Amino acid sequence: MKIVDLQFEEIVYKYIKPFHIANNIALEKTNITVSLVTDSGITGKGEASPSFRVNGECLPALMALRLEILHAIKGMDAMNYLQVFDVLDRFSTTSSSLKMAVQYAAIDAFCQNTGIAPYQFFGGRKENVETDKTVSIGPLEETISDVEAIVTEGFNIVKMKVGEDLKKDIERVVSVSDRFRNISLIVDANTGYTAKEAILFAEAVYREGCPVVLLEQPVPVNDLDGLKLVRHNSMIPVGADECVRTRFDAYRLVKGDYVDFINIKLMKSGLSDALAIIDIAKSAGVSLMIGCMSESGLGIGQSVHFAAGTGAFVYHDLDSHMLLKNTKPVGFSQHGTKLFAFKVR
Ligand code: MN
Repeated sequence: MKIVDLQFEEIVYKYIKPFHIANNIALEKTNITVSLVTDSGITGKGEASPSFRVNGECLPALMALRLEILHAIKGMDAMNYLQVFDVLDRFSTTSSSLKMAVQYAAIDAFCQNTGIAPYQFFGGRKENVETDKTVSIGPLEETISDVEAIVTEGFNIVKMKVGEDLKKDIERVVSVSDRFRNISLIVDANTGYTAKEAILFAEAVYREGCPVVLLEQPVPVNDLDGLKLVRHNSMIPVGADECVRTRFDAYRLVKGDYVDFINIKLMKSGLSDALAIIDIAKSAGVSLMIGCMSESGLGIGQSVHFAAGTGAFVYHDLDSHMLLKNTKPVGFSQHGTKLFAFKVR
């Protein structure tokens, strides 16, 4: 199953509603579908959902890497997938979503050739995972109506974006907690707070009895001292997202006792580093969640198989396909809040 070609296709996806996180609003997203063509007639597929904000990625630069990567992996047997992983690991960390797409395409080809499903390749611990759904930053009334819709859809975990205005954030989280019982809240500041603001936030929502189970990336990426300060001054578990992309980032964070949680996103790490981060976190007793960028149904399928197969995650934030217009699940099916990995392709 020798690799003979690599094809990239740009596809534009529109958000159903503008996606507003701390200091960023997105209306649409362009992803890359990668096809890894082998001489056996099998073509593996993968998706890259690039992020300038998190990965420093730029779409034209990624597209221009096609020949570079093809030359590096051409002639390799896709069955020897670690050889493909190693080549991609040598590329810059500012193309990690592309690394992910090519690595997954190799695994997809491997699975087609052996007749197993990707979730089985990843270990087969589970066949489905439960996802949360995300609420953008917005006025209080809008937040309430968004959460109402999500709760009506049956979701048990709601992820709320915060990080632009401490006072309004506390008001939004407290109001949602008062109004909707029997849900858990993941709160994500996307680097928007200072350490002291984050501590004030955690203290306020804890004192009000809000069911916040995790505070994600309260402080800027490079403020590791701040992150540690928040972690040790918050009754709510604190997680790292933007500041963990590679296995080396994860190692530094667990070694320094900086976090309770790490949010793995395949688009930040690729499969190789995501697998390594799972082992690093487990060794250190740090919990894991899995998140997403703006993957379509194709890219979310990658994460569903990865998350179900490894069974490594406490929380699953795999909702971007629900927030985009022109896409549907690929390789999995959704029944309510549950995402089921297909057993066969
Ligand atoms: Mn996050």
